[in-house]
Amino acid sequence: MEQTETIYDVIVIGAGPGGMTAALYASRSNLKTLLLERGIPGGEMNNTAEVENYPGFNSILGPELAERMYESTMQFGAEHVYGDVKRIVVDGDYRIVEAGKKTYKTRAVIIATGSYHRKLGVPGEAQYNGRGVSYCAVCDGAFFKGKKLAVVGGGDSAVEEGTYLTQFADVNIVHRRDELRAQKVIQDRAFKNEKVSFTWNAIVEEIKGDGQKVTGVVIRNKNTNEITEEAVDGVFIYVGILPQSDAFLDLGITDEEGWIITNEHMETAIPGIFAIGDVRQKLLRQITTAVGDGGEAGNRAFAYIEDLHDRLAAAEAAAETVD
Ligand code: FAD
Ligand code: NAP
Repeated sequence: MEQTETIYDVIVIGAGPGGMTAALYASRSNLKTLLLERGIPGGEMNNTAEVENYPGFNSILGPELAERMYESTMQFGAEHVYGDVKRIVVDGDYRIVEAGKKTYKTRAVIIATGSYHRKLGVPGEAQYNGRGVSYCAVCDGAFFKGKKLAVVGGGDSAVEEGTYLTQFADVNIVHRRDELRAQKVIQDRAFKNEKVSFTWNAIVEEIKGDGQKVTGVVIRNKNTNEITEEAVDGVFIYVGILPQSDAFLDLGITDEEGWIITNEHMETAIPGIFAIGDVRQKLLRQITTAVGDGGEAGNRAFAYIEDLHDRLAAAEAAAETVD
């Protein structure tokens, strides 16, 4: 392991909207700030077609919002490097962040690692991943011009991304209940769209293919147990999200599902370790809420470091008096 010499005030792990905002607030408070990201800055915004509920923009493409946030984040001197964080070690008043072969020393850490897509877990899903099975409409939608698609799920992601896909293809939203979980405005738009159809009370049992690519889905009606096979060229899966928190499970700051528990100031049970955005145990997971969490955590990290300096200075003064 190579230990970097710099001692940071704050290390932010993850450059989604939450992490970028935290880095903006921390660096604007003159804290020495490092943003560690294992992919492209922007997080889930990079996989989102259109964002209509971020104030200031009537509508903006997800990747464009990501780029704008990144630009404004970096203006106050935060450093950004590639890093896939595997562990945080608590060493007295320092927090050691391990990423690949490098370790970074810091006084405070803000975890902003977000979530990942839940898999359906049916035969054919893994085999045809990237060959008709997808978890990202904005990445893969254009491959399906003039085709027929199944979209699995009934939440915001399935219904919104399903509607987005109709610019390329006919879309059948396959949902396990007879009502959607998605926000009303998103539902209404899908119901009005002639290229969207719905299969209700439907459990996807298998994704079929010809060995090369997807050819259909096998669906069981939950009420009648009737099995049908629908011919489709692609299956987009949006059946929820899980916390991206494996690297932090040994810290004992997560609930039984792995969501990180914080108070309203984004503080975890370990002083100097904060968590924000989708990875946090909370009810509303949105860009706005991730951004709000990021502002709070950046601000709280500043207060934490000020307190730490005061405490260390007082201890030093006390030691000198004894001498
Ligand atoms: P994320 O955006 O998930 O970012 C986390 C970042 O951390 C990623 O860049 C990841 O690479 C990085 N990371 C993870 N683990 C590590 C590690 N170990 N080391 C280093 N880096 C790591 N919300 C809205 O408000 N409006 C919308 O229109 C909207 N559309 C959506 C569409 C879809 C398909 C989905 C899935 C979500 C949508 N959301 C929308 C929700 C919104 O995208 C999320 O709530 C928001 O992105 C969460 O931000 P975050 O910063 O917490 O995490
Ligand atoms: P979600 O809200 O958890 O919805 C998951 C959907 O998948 C639900 O309809 C659920 O069915 C279904 N499902 C779960 N497990 C399943 C399984 N094994 N088989 C079949 N269906 C299954 O997840 P999401 O839609 O991905 O949204 C994630 C977060 O991002 C949410 O907080 C959401 O608000 C946010 N988001 C926001 C926007 C926006 O603001 N425009 C857009 C996208 C996402 P049930 O309904 O029966 O539980």
